[in-house]
Amino acid sequence: MSKNQLSSYIDSLRSLRKNLQEKDKHVKSQPAHAVNDYIEKLENDNRAINVKRGIRAKCEMGWRLCILPLGYFTRGSGNGRDVIIDELRAPYIRQMFEMSANGKSGRHIRSWLEDNTVTTRKEKHISLSMIYKILKNPYYYGKFEFPKDSGQWYEGSHEPLITKDLFDIVQEQLKVPMKSKWGAKEFPYKRFMTCYSCGSTIVCEERKKKYKNGTVGVFMYYHCSRQVDYDCKEPFGRERDIVNGLIKHCNNLITDIEALEPDLRIAIDKFTKIIRATSDSYREEDAIGAYIKYVVQDGTLFEETQLIRNLNLKLALHNRESIRV
Ligand SMILES: [Zn+2]
Repeated sequence: MSKNQLSSYIDSLRSLRKNLQEKDKHVKSQPAHAVNDYIEKLENDNRAINVKRGIRAKCEMGWRLCILPLGYFTRGSGNGRDVIIDELRAPYIRQMFEMSANGKSGRHIRSWLEDNTVTTRKEKHISLSMIYKILKNPYYYGKFEFPKDSGQWYEGSHEPLITKDLFDIVQEQLKVPMKSKWGAKEFPYKRFMTCYSCGSTIVCEERKKKYKNGTVGVFMYYHCSRQVDYDCKEPFGRERDIVNGLIKHCNNLITDIEALEPDLRIAIDKFTKIIRATSDSYREEDAIGAYIKYVVQDGTLFEETQLIRNLNLKLALHNRESIRV
């Protein structure tokens, strides 16, 4: 029913009510009451429809109704209002998307924001959940949905901070779990290592070997997933050889300690102090190398994952070893 139809319908009901009331002046008329309730309901619905219409019209003009995402401000008030970029925070928001697209974790981004004292508009720390909310918000490339989960998308009238392409890459990144599971063993190198021959991802498999004396040895094998080349001939590598390949480079895997995520810097610093306490002659580069060696050989999965994501490292499985590419 259109707005005009609804109004004339309500008017005709009103005259019906009047008729009923006049016929039954001395008795409390049930029909008149029922019609009265019905009129009130319709009038309420009509108001709700008008409010919704107003909201939709605003959305179609590119307005987003509720709190603006971080990186934007509202300027002015009433109908003269518009959305402008928060020049202080917008560059950080942009870089957050870049970092996420490059595989940096939410925690890494949080530490980086803290280092740069980037806060919310209320000067609070930006929480991990807020970081993920930002990274998943299409508003930054120019679109918004209203109401939430309605499937109704609108083109914002604001200036986007990022491109849709960058946004899409980030959404893919967010789908990849930080720790992949292969059999019983987690495999920290997976996201950083590809097959040298065909470029496929690498998978890790656990194999058991029975010795004559009855004991069982467990070996980890890394091999090409053959997603790209079904017949790829790249031989598998053993975990031990992969780790040895990394150790060979460990003295020059980290060149700029300032660029590391703060928690890793703290861990290396602590490790350096331990070395300093036990040996008089040491060089700082050697301490970093020793830390890498310790982590890839004996570190926990957490330490390994944290280290590897900071190495800016691209590895390839080639001739049973890991090589840098
Ligand atoms: Zn391959």
